[in-house]
Amino acid sequence: MESCLFCKIANHEIPAEILYEDDRIMAFKDISPQAPVHFLLVPKKHIENLMETAENDESLLGHILFYAQKIAKQEGCEEKGARFVLNCKTDGGQTVNHLHLHVLGKRMLYWPPG
Ligand code: AMP
Ligand code: ZN
Repeated sequence: MESCLFCKIANHEIPAEILYEDDRIMAFKDISPQAPVHFLLVPKKHIENLMETAENDESLLGHILFYAQKIAKQEGCEEKGARFVLNCKTDGGQTVNHLHLHVLGKRMLYWPPG
């Protein structure tokens, strides 16, 4: 999608601190980190949010989750864990309308969210 920020990052049109990339996904550091480790994983194809996924996106979603934990370990979160967050639409607090999984670590996070 032409005007989408995360499509532009995934296409290397806008720079980001990339942690991982393959033909289907990209992981990059959040520009406004809310924890010492804070990165995002996005599908390279434009999907608005989790609720806009289709039947054939199932393996892509699994791929995102699998690499989320793998990169979290590489970033030093294996011992104490991390938080894996998918904000969806207005009530979910989504501000960028391209599906992205947040991974936050190296800080104690509390529940419930505000
Ligand atoms: P959400 O509120 O779940 O839609 O999260 C959007 C996230 O994208 C926020 O944590 C922002 O800090 C992050 N963000 C916005 N612009 C950029 C950018 N250019 N590079 C990296 N992260 C970004
Ligand atoms: Zn997009």
